[in-house]
Amino acid sequence: MENNETKDNDNRVINYLRISLTDRCNLRCIYCMPQDGIEFIPHENILRYEEIMHIVELAVQKGIRKVRLTGGEPLVRKGFLDFLKQLSDIAGLKEITLTTNGVLLKDLAAGIKACGVKRLNISLDSLKRERFARITGRDVFDQVWEGIQEAERLGFDPIKLNVVAMKGINDDEILDFARLTLTKPYHIRFIEHMPVGEDNGWKANNFISTLEIHNIIESLGKLTPVGGRSLLDGPAQRYILEGAKGEIGLIGALSNHFCGICNRLRLTADGHIRNCLFSDVETDLKSALRNNEGDEKILALLDSAIKNKPLSHNLNKPGLRTCARRMSAIGG
Ligand code: SAM
Repeated sequence: MENNETKDNDNRVINYLRISLTDRCNLRCIYCMPQDGIEFIPHENILRYEEIMHIVELAVQKGIRKVRLTGGEPLVRKGFLDFLKQLSDIAGLKEITLTTNGVLLKDLAAGIKACGVKRLNISLDSLKRERFARITGRDVFDQVWEGIQEAERLGFDPIKLNVVAMKGINDDEILDFARLTLTKPYHIRFIEHMPVGEDNGWKANNFISTLEIHNIIESLGKLTPVGGRSLLDGPAQRYILEGAKGEIGLIGALSNHFCGICNRLRLTADGHIRNCLFSDVETDLKSALRNNEGDEKILALLDSAIKNKPLSHNLNKPGLRTCARRMSAIGG
């Protein structure tokens, strides 16, 4: 057992914190945010950078080793690079990663690299410009693609491209994405569409499982499983096509959920810890911080959130239930 490792009541080591830096985003993906009429969290309720730093320092004492910055869109938050630099100076963090939509990546990628970030996750649901605009609400495919090219040029490795697969929307591009791994070193990760947040637009008709995706890709050639798992690895089942430069990952969040190996906590943009993406039971760290209740109190709250992490999200049981908060506020 590593120093100050914390396990939950089901013996899972919890060492990974995802932080939603902001619930704001410069895209309006159909499965994530409505086109308009969104109620954002008031600015005063968003954690300040120094508050996030403090929470991460305490979380490291509780065994957190990896942090992912996400949102909303983390790159739209002012002062992002200065914050990243400070975060990278926290002793005890082994890895900082980032999930971004790539819109602002081209100009920021070098600064991100200079802060020691080595791996990037970039969302890309279509390789077709017009369809990309329909899915994301913004005609910025070229900008995102340039951001991905710049990240590759700078040597980020791996570059993971997240594709939320949806029947009738982008499933006809599964093979195009898979073929991309033959010529590019990208890890294409097909993610099952999850019903997150009220009014999430999730429909069984649009759902395509990782098993179906696997079968579609095998029409191109054999998918050979790769990779072992380290404790800091993600839940993707990883494969490679013969001769490919990149990989294919399948994330069966619904059909083949990975709760049994889940090592994550999430920090919402307004300072609450969620110990399961789909559970609205949250631990309010912001109030404890702003009421000066002291580090011991915050450590105890973190400890309790870890210990009481739900064993499973129950989403695939009858009477599908989801959570109230949007992915953008929780931190996808
Ligand atoms: N703005 C950044 C981005 O676009 O990558 C980070 C935040 S976004 C919420 C993080 C990831 O969550 C993206 O890859 C997105 O596709 C995924 N995501 C959001 N809503 C989802 C849903 N309902 N089901 C599956 N994945 C979802």
